[in-house]
Amino acid sequence: MERKVLIIGGGAAGMTAAIMAARQGARVTVLEHTDRVGRKLLSTGNGRCNFTNTDQKPEYYRCTQEDFPWQTVSRFPVSDTLRFFAELGIPARSRGSCLYPNSEQAASVLDALRMELDRQCVDVRTGCRARTVKRQNGAFAAETDGGTFRADAVILASGSRAAPHTGSDGSGYELARALGHRIITPLPALVQLRCAENDYKQMAGVRADARVELYTESGGSWRLEAADRGELQLTDYGISGIPVFQVSRFASAALHRRKRVKAVIDFLPDKSEAETREMIAARCGRMQDNTCEQWMNGLLHKKLAVVLLKRAGLRPSQRAGDVPPSGWEALYRQLRAFETAVTAANSFDQAQVCCGGVDTAQVDAVSMESKLVPDLYFAGEILDVDGICGGYNLQWAWSSGAVAGRSAAGGKDDRQRKGQIR
Ligand SMILES: Cc1cc2nc3c(=O)[nH]c(=O)nc-3n(C[C@H](O)[C@H](O)[C@H](O)COP(=O)(O)OP(=O)(O)OC[C@H]3O[C@@H](n4cnc5c(N)ncnc54)[C@H](O)[C@@H]3O)c2cc1C
Repeated sequence: MERKVLIIGGGAAGMTAAIMAARQGARVTVLEHTDRVGRKLLSTGNGRCNFTNTDQKPEYYRCTQEDFPWQTVSRFPVSDTLRFFAELGIPARSRGSCLYPNSEQAASVLDALRMELDRQCVDVRTGCRARTVKRQNGAFAAETDGGTFRADAVILASGSRAAPHTGSDGSGYELARALGHRIITPLPALVQLRCAENDYKQMAGVRADARVELYTESGGSWRLEAADRGELQLTDYGISGIPVFQVSRFASAALHRRKRVKAVIDFLPDKSEAETREMIAARCGRMQDNTCEQWMNGLLHKKLAVVLLKRAGLRPSQRAGDVPPSGWEALYRQLRAFETAVTAANSFDQAQVCCGGVDTAQVDAVSMESKLVPDLYFAGEILDVDGICGGYNLQWAWSSGAVAGRSAAGGKDDRQRKGQIR
């Protein structure tokens, strides 16, 4: 008999799950509470949609159960993603290892998915919010604004709490909780960090190539949690840009546990210590009679240079020749190890994803089925999985969506898990 699969959430994961389940012969309905599917997808990659990445490593997917995401991604890896989209008429274009649709338009990815949902006769109900999902007599009943939907299997793909204006308001967590699932507190990730010092207003708008290290305090000593290099952006309240996004989940988690957090920034990441010291000595030799501000000219952005000088205890108008060796040592530290106290991460409104979500200890990575409720599946960001920047979060949505869709329809992943096929 045709299996009825109900999918809650019409985002990247929900649409993929719907297509895969329908291709396996299931009768599929997608409930989406906003007026259109794929709203978040449209804002990805600044509207260009960095939809996957050819450089894949297990550690790029973060989760409390470290091994969980990779088991799922390996069942629908990048090669499958590329084939899936090529068949939908979306060839990829690369920028380094990041892949975008050749059109460089997120809208074309969404249109391709919508066309395939139509082709597979998926019943898409927009403006339809799932309020409760209950297991009744071996099946499911979902109460919505538009009445009750019954199904043999349900896939929760309702996203996280990140960027709630796109529809992901966290309501999926409550549906999961009501079905007995544990939720690891969702926190903003891939997000800007707010800092304590009051000189950020002077540096706002500056961009610089830098290495950012994130430390958390534990038992009186600092522990390095993560580091990344790229274009740092200084804002009037703190730090932003890709290297900050990449380390931000560790700041969110530590601040949530009330730990102290600091970032240490290297503004000359290409130079060794010896090269930096030689450069300082050479400039000192040439620029004895210049002011410290002139001494910094061309090295870093002027606004940043003035702050570094002040933090090193030097006056911008001071004659370089009058600076004692301890002054140059202090400046060296500011250039190579600029410390800033991180006080908060920006809110869910600004976050690209969340860390935390449905605890994967209660979910089977091979099928995405709940270990607590038979025929209940999960896909996408609702789970406690977050990827680094660079197309990994969408790859997680495609992989987990494909696996959940196939399993919910009683397909390959499910039968493999149950030992019926190898
Ligand atoms: C600005 C921005 C840029 C990004 N850029 C990239 C990028 O370039 N590359 C990348 O890999 N990742 C990127 N991401 C992250 C990526 O977009 C997400 O990880 C991914 O879209 C998550 O897909 P999802 O289907 O799990 O959740 P979502 O896309 O959030 O979809 C969930 C859907 O469920 C619906 N819903 C929620 N609750 C209910 C309910 N109770 N009933 C019915 N419907 C419900 C929501 O309205 C939503 O449409 C970006 C994110 C943002 C915010």
